[in-house]
Amino acid sequence: MATILDGKAHADRMLEVVRQGVEARMARGLRAPALAVVLVGDDPASHVYVRNKAAACAKVGITSLEHRLGADTPQAELDALIDRLNADPAVDGILVQLPLPKGLDSKEALHRISPAKDVDGFHPMNQGLLLEGLPGLRPCTPTACMSLLAHHGVDLKGLRAVVLGRSEIVGKPMALMLLEQHATVTIAHSRTKDLAAVCREADLLVAAVGRPGLVEGSWIKPGAVVVDVGINRVEDPGLAARIFAGEPKKLEAFQAKGAVLCGDVRFGEAMDVASAVTPVPGGVGPLTIAGLLTNTLQAANQQG
Ligand code: NAD
Repeated sequence: MATILDGKAHADRMLEVVRQGVEARMARGLRAPALAVVLVGDDPASHVYVRNKAAACAKVGITSLEHRLGADTPQAELDALIDRLNADPAVDGILVQLPLPKGLDSKEALHRISPAKDVDGFHPMNQGLLLEGLPGLRPCTPTACMSLLAHHGVDLKGLRAVVLGRSEIVGKPMALMLLEQHATVTIAHSRTKDLAAVCREADLLVAAVGRPGLVEGSWIKPGAVVVDVGINRVEDPGLAARIFAGEPKKLEAFQAKGAVLCGDVRFGEAMDVASAVTPVPGGVGPLTIAGLLTNTLQAANQQG
């Protein structure tokens, strides 16, 4: 049986480091770091994420400033708000919650955020610094995954790593961070031929695809470390029966509730083959917010 890599426990460790960092700033007479969150429209999942972020900020002493705009907000109004937050010396970090409602250009908004306040690490300047291996604000999810792997003593030097997914948010930056730590990295995606065979080469497999249970146990090299970034809601009984066959408790939960969250990896099957696996929920999910608050503290300290 594989070891379960507990993301919640590691997120708590990361948040404790942030809490101490905030305390140290305040002991030097500086104000608490402040994170401005811009929420446009009424996507229910986004509202939940924003609530969770505010709760985590409160735990570590970061000031959370929420800006809510209606779904019909014109781009110019969103841009003007970002400009105001960029210029506001009382704001250290700015996060525009994605997805934005139809009609708004998320790239335009993200590129407008000052790189010094870009706590999501999505601005081209910060992505460029990452590409060059220079310090900057880095995307939260892959940064936190790297921290989890380091905590569990996974030696990445020379390791064959496969990253499934090539998004700017997870896949690409994750691949760069693994490369920086001297792993031999393959990025696989929707057009990759014989995905199963590519995955089977991986000593470290990172799945960031958004397809429930895509990665079967037979895709995993025995003894591999598996990091499952995917968060998917499964409502289809046929799919649930297939992907949770090796996970009776999950199947029971599905039958009781009619829907469950799961990752891109078939957790039950992975547990029989891998040496370590992150669960969903309770793996990478809680780490992302911890990464965000780590970035907010870093942004505040760099701005004085
Ligand atoms: P995305 O949709 O932007 O990218 C998905 C990637 O997967 C694409 O590069 C695509 O090429 C690849 N892909 C799609 N179908 C595939 C297939 N059948 N085979 C191989 N590759 C395929 O998604 P994203 O923003 O990178 O997010 C990926 C998943 O991670 C989602 O489930 C998302 O909810 C989750 N996520 C979780 C966290 C967290 O905090 N745990 C953070 C970000 C994203």
